[in-house]
Amino acid sequence: MDLRNGFDIKRYIRTIEDYPKPGIQFRDITTLLANMHGFRAAVDELMWPFLSGGIDYVAGIEARGFILGGAVAHELGRGFVPIRKKGKLPGKVIGQDYQLEYGVDTIEIHADSISAGDRVLLIDDLIATGGTAGAATELIRQSGGEVVAAAFVIDLPDLGGADRLRNKGVKVHTLAEFEGD
Ligand code: AMP
Repeated sequence: MDLRNGFDIKRYIRTIEDYPKPGIQFRDITTLLANMHGFRAAVDELMWPFLSGGIDYVAGIEARGFILGGAVAHELGRGFVPIRKKGKLPGKVIGQDYQLEYGVDTIEIHADSISAGDRVLLIDDLIATGGTAGAATELIRQSGGEVVAAAFVIDLPDLGGADRLRNKGVKVHTLAEFEGD
């Protein structure tokens, strides 16, 4: 099934060379989001496999996962749970460290946002090494939730993140692939 009506999502993703540092090809979805057909096609494609999938919550990763995840939650008629960078959430949190190319970062979730047995769909714009989505998966599982699947607009398969996430037992749904990193 394809809800794009022929809309080529990949064509509307802009590549910016050497951002945020030399050698990185930044896959910029702001051009996709700004196109009224593009935003709708991306949200529809992200959520359709889960229309009847018994999802309780949609969790989005800061910051682009909020834009897409909020729209997916609205379309599915479910609540939205933010997963944020360290120090941003006001209530009691649980945190998870994950590896960056140089150093370590931390993401957090409100400790009471997900309960035992809740079925969660995880959303972000892009999966590269899978470090961020892997840490988000740990947070949802520590909360007692089940990660039904993780959905991304973009996969960078050469970096292996989608396979790493699958090896953690998470189903992965992506809409467009780009070679390299
Ligand atoms: P990773 O943890 O390596 O899977 O990286 C995924 C996170 O970093 C996502 O939140 C992306 O938005 C961001 N990211 C990583 N690489 C890129 C890239 N080439 N272009 C745009 N965003 C990226």
